[in-house]
Amino acid sequence: MKIICIGRNYADHAKELSNPVPKQPLVFMKPASSILRNGKPFFYPEFTSDLHYECEVVLKISKNGKHIAKEFAHTYYEEVTLGIDWTARDLQQQCKQKGHPWEIAKGFDGSAFVGDFISKHDLPNPIQFHLDRNGQTVQEGNTADLLFDFDTIITHVSKYFRLLMGDLIFTGTPAGVGPTAVGDTFVGYIGDQELVRCRVK
Ligand code: ZN
Repeated sequence: MKIICIGRNYADHAKELSNPVPKQPLVFMKPASSILRNGKPFFYPEFTSDLHYECEVVLKISKNGKHIAKEFAHTYYEEVTLGIDWTARDLQQQCKQKGHPWEIAKGFDGSAFVGDFISKHDLPNPIQFHLDRNGQTVQEGNTADLLFDFDTIITHVSKYFRLLMGDLIFTGTPAGVGPTAVGDTFVGYIGDQELVRCRVK
């Protein structure tokens, strides 16, 4: 399986990191080895001193497809959750400055924290979500604010990568990303339903 991620998909987040708003979805990947399941502790990696949380809505691809037409894109996922796209911001900055790929900053072990999946049919549209750090809300998002919506993302990425059942798509983070410290607890909610609980060790 693979994990496809969309960067800068909320204008307010692109702005907070002084990045331009993209005209096309900005796509990167994490390896399957980066997955960390809900309830497992996340260990602060030794190679960064500026680890950032990015809370995102995550789609689970439910059937195989390539060149998926936009009107059928919604039939390619049935389950949704929240995830944390853990990012070594200092390493990512260095990679960006040199024009290098940023996999080491975003694809390391544990960097794809994935919550408990729920049926998309049990969710309102748009989806309102938020992330709490130690009981304080640090990120709030609404999928109505996505620059590229789920169907557009699926259509776009399936031009380049055959989507396979079980693949995950991290759909981008809203504003409010920030650093974390050992001992922090992050809890993510869609509406008032808890789907993510991650302790940083
Ligand atoms: Zn992200």
